[in-house]
Amino acid sequence: MKSKFFTAEKITDRVTRVGGMGGELCYLVEGDSAALLIDGLTGVGSLKAFVRELTELPVTLAVTHGHIDHVGAAWEYGQVCVHPADTALMYEPMHASVSSRLGFVGSRGGRAPKRETEPTEADVPPARPVKAFPIREGDVFDLGGVEIEVIEVPGHTEGTVVFLDRAARILFSGDACNLNTLLNLPGSTSVARYRESLLHFKAYQDAFDVMYGGHGPVAVPSSIIDDGIALCDRILAGEDDALPVPSMIPEHTGRLAARRGEDYHPLCGGLCNIVYDENGVRQPPFPPVTGVAILKRG
Ligand SMILES: [Zn+2]
Repeated sequence: MKSKFFTAEKITDRVTRVGGMGGELCYLVEGDSAALLIDGLTGVGSLKAFVRELTELPVTLAVTHGHIDHVGAAWEYGQVCVHPADTALMYEPMHASVSSRLGFVGSRGGRAPKRETEPTEADVPPARPVKAFPIREGDVFDLGGVEIEVIEVPGHTEGTVVFLDRAARILFSGDACNLNTLLNLPGSTSVARYRESLLHFKAYQDAFDVMYGGHGPVAVPSSIIDDGIALCDRILAGEDDALPVPSMIPEHTGRLAARRGEDYHPLCGGLCNIVYDENGVRQPPFPPVTGVAILKRG
């Protein structure tokens, strides 16, 4: 199924992958009595209306973290399940404002699907106060015949979680661990803390075979956790490639831990790569995001 803004594709009997204009991905998981929308894209076009076409079940939105390309539908649904450590982050203008959301889908040329028309401000529901239901380690969504478990993996953001379907042996990972794991953003943790997270995540490694993330429509084997731990060890020992790369925060540069080939895969092997801040190896790279956003109601 396809619209001006979204594409949808079934990846299992119960799971539909939905792609947004910026190439960002989310997942609709359907049980017998309820559906869970894992992540909410960038909020350009009505994801809520698109999802309504996909399922008649009541839909709950839960996000892996508070970034712009994951929380967009929260502004439409008016409520979202999010780890409390990321609630303030999602209201930051760089993640919530109409201009940055339009900019996000406009700047993803290489990865984004071809589009027929350019979106405008009228296509972007503005951010507003929403109910944020806290989710934490061990929480379980009961969808009727399908259970989805919350696992905390702080790193990319302090409040990053992943969602595990033990019965289907599938995990939904957002941006927790991938070929370009960014640890150099406001709200990211130190590399040392991320390593601890991956060791915690590894305790679940036997419970799933593949994970699906927020970018790149491929099933990633659970061995990526081991690749991530090994790379953190190299960074902490000062033995990584530490290549300077541009940062999303203009006054900062990032360090790419492993040199990569043209296909984006690390030349040292494995499926995980990390971009970190040189001041963020043992300490968080930025002060915590704690602001309280006041947005117009309506
Ligand atoms: Zn992210």
